[in-house]
Amino acid sequence: MTQFLLRECPACGSSDARREVRAGKTAETMTPDALRPFWAGLFKQKCFFSYHRCRGCGLLYNPVFFTPDQLAELYARMAPNMEAVGDEAIVATQRGYFARAAAQGFPGGGYLEIGPDVGHIVSEASLHGGFDRFWLFEPNLAIHDRLRDAAGRGAARLSTGMDDLSPVPDGTVGLAVMVHVLDHLLDPLTMLTQIRAKLRPGGMLMIVTHDESSLLRRVMGTRWPPFCLQHPELYNPATMRALLGRAGFDDVVVEGSRNVFPLDFLARQAAWAAGIRVRRVPLPPVPVGLKLGNILTLATAPVQAARSEATLPRQEEVARVA
Ligand SMILES: [Zn+2]
Repeated sequence: MTQFLLRECPACGSSDARREVRAGKTAETMTPDALRPFWAGLFKQKCFFSYHRCRGCGLLYNPVFFTPDQLAELYARMAPNMEAVGDEAIVATQRGYFARAAAQGFPGGGYLEIGPDVGHIVSEASLHGGFDRFWLFEPNLAIHDRLRDAAGRGAARLSTGMDDLSPVPDGTVGLAVMVHVLDHLLDPLTMLTQIRAKLRPGGMLMIVTHDESSLLRRVMGTRWPPFCLQHPELYNPATMRALLGRAGFDDVVVEGSRNVFPLDFLARQAAWAAGIRVRRVPLPPVPVGLKLGNILTLATAPVQAARSEATLPRQEEVARVA
């Protein structure tokens, strides 16, 4: 009897899937207690739940994964994101994301972000976006003050929950953002459907995720870092488009996203990957931009409400037939 959650495909509901990626140490054969040190990254050995490819919609996901309670406990102990990379590089990367969304244009109104962390994109949006409200769903209470500052004190509405967007009035948000959040969710379709309802007609959702069809994934095989205990599913441009279609989005653009890394960080990573022991390579920490197997997705809420009502049931039927 497993202590874990048994899942159907979180995009289409099919349970017909074929195993594609198996870790040297398969998480589903272990106990939740034994997995705790692997979650915290204390061992070098790769350990994750096996990834299966859905035969219905092509999504790569874990049919066995942690339960919501197990996840809540694990996340409560987790260290902040991307600690190894300098703050400057993160700021530059996230500024780039906002600039990309702004280039596409959005219809004003509110700003909504799930998991904004310390709020690098919130700051940009506050300076350049012309938003009237900031709805920020961030579980880490310790950074709420910093987030309020980033948004401009009067405009921020913060919540520690990540699942329930009901405080946000429907049809009011111009830009919704999720950076490295969607592939952590047990039920991404419900989240996307909720977000779509919060968007104004023509409002935009920006998502950044890993790309499991990237060259980097093919080259690295099971050593590809996004194969880990934190990702119950992983996307590629086709599965991302399909999922957003199911959630009622109209117009979806998926493209490679640019990550900025300081040069010395990259040199140390390269040396580490090659097995060379270097103390610190004396290179100037000039940020460089690389497309490293991440995708940025821009999805637009339908402009005509009537059209979206007509689209939804039809897509449900397609899912059942498939
Ligand atoms: Zn599926």
